[in-house]
Amino acid sequence: MPKSAPEAASIAPDVLAKYEPVIGLEVHVQLLTRTKIFCGCSTRFGDPPNTNVCPVCLGLPGTLPVLNKRAVEMAMRASLALNCTVHDHSRFARKNYFYPDLPKGYQISQYELPLATGGWLEIEANGARKRIGITRLHLEEDAAKNLHEGFSQSATKAYIDYNRCGTPLSEIVSEPDMRTPEEAYAYLTTLRQIMLYTGVSDCNMEEGSLRCDANVSVRLRGSKEFGTKVEVKNLNSFRFLQKALEYEIERHIGVLESGGRLFQETRLWNQAEGHTVSMRSKEKAHDYRYFPEPDLLPVHISSAWREEVRRALPELPEAKRARFVAAYGITPYDSEVLTNTPALADYFEAVVKAGALGKAAANWMQTELLRGLKDSGKEISASPVSPAALAELVTLVESAKITGAVAKKVFAAMFESGRTASEIVAAEGLAAQVSDAAIEQAVREVIAKNSDNVAKFKSGNEGVFKFFVGQVMKATRGQANPQAVNDILRKLLSQAK
Ligand code: ADP
Ligand code: ZN
Ligand code: MG
Repeated sequence: MPKSAPEAASIAPDVLAKYEPVIGLEVHVQLLTRTKIFCGCSTRFGDPPNTNVCPVCLGLPGTLPVLNKRAVEMAMRASLALNCTVHDHSRFARKNYFYPDLPKGYQISQYELPLATGGWLEIEANGARKRIGITRLHLEEDAAKNLHEGFSQSATKAYIDYNRCGTPLSEIVSEPDMRTPEEAYAYLTTLRQIMLYTGVSDCNMEEGSLRCDANVSVRLRGSKEFGTKVEVKNLNSFRFLQKALEYEIERHIGVLESGGRLFQETRLWNQAEGHTVSMRSKEKAHDYRYFPEPDLLPVHISSAWREEVRRALPELPEAKRARFVAAYGITPYDSEVLTNTPALADYFEAVVKAGALGKAAANWMQTELLRGLKDSGKEISASPVSPAALAELVTLVESAKITGAVAKKVFAAMFESGRTASEIVAAEGLAAQVSDAAIEQAVREVIAKNSDNVAKFKSGNEGVFKFFVGQVMKATRGQANPQAVNDILRKLLSQAK
């Protein structure tokens, strides 16, 4: 087996266009249970190595696993949100392989009778909507984590942290329905969003609670048969997934065009070098000698339980997007942004419930709020500006109590200090309190100084109106009521000669 990757020589676009990529993803998500799938150890991330372990998850002889009901329930919730059939009967199986991160010498997984099968989700990619089939969703236990760095003898030894061992996972296998790296990217983002909405996983790729393996092959366009697939691992970001697929597709086409043939194998994405390297041939790796797990009863799910879980499903992203557009009059684009995470969507609804107009709330959130959060590295849940506080600010602007320009400064101060808008406005004398007489005075001066632009305006150039507004706002140090400035300007301009 060649160890080094043949360079994906740049292939002419018309050659690339002869081929159609075929992609299927296998995604693992860690379920957000407090304890592990077969024992009572904590699943907390980041604890000191080997502190959340017991004889069961260390695989000591004589111990027996006990299934965590919450893990089953969460996997059911994920399955139902992905339109899968959750089966009355499913079964655990032993997947045998030998690796230090697997203390029992086998992983308890599901094989011929998975928890759920036959679902789908809908993606949007390259401007089109498309359904991607989900073959199956099953339950299994996570393995331990090999640590190759940070210990005294790391140069010569690998260390193992068994804290992760036994964390419940759902493996979600897609049909080979994707045809471009963009579709694969869209699938993974959509899947992640559904997992976040249903609360079954925090889907943090850096912490490994969402992991993705990509299967990819190419075939001549029009051909019915699939080509030989390669599995790519080590895709720990959305960007890596897309890059690895782009690379691998070109590599396949390069091999086929030069008269070579592909063989089934597992490859690793090397982000630093921007290519994949062969890790093992699939055939060898595949002999897992699965057999039914004798230490666990089959899983029985009553229709009553299944329906209870189905009823308790939260509103899913697509439904929420549509409802936001209909109920709050925001654009589909705004709705897309604001439903990105359940936390963001909840925040938006809370701002509106506290009295802000939907459109205004959406604008403030997408500009000042998201920028502030990004710049300070904060999550929306830790926003120093509460939904009620933002609603108050938005209302102050809408009712012309403060100008838009002042409001931006007020927001920055709110974000900085956690004080409310009215407190800041009162303390710093920011209320739009320029009298109509003072505005009129400013307008007259601006008109007198800019006869050229008055002439332009008179000859129908509506664009210069903004110039006048700007000048008057400047003269009143941004504290005039914009509506009043508008009205007075219109009146006096129409009288000007
Ligand atoms: P294996 O037996 O190697 O695990 P599976 O048939 O179970 O293969 O499929 C594993 C994943 O690979 C699934 O996500 C599936 O959609 C995808 N897949 C299967 N065949 C192909 C192919 N020819 N090209 C790309 N992906 C494929
Ligand atoms: Zn344990
Ligand atoms: Mg398989």
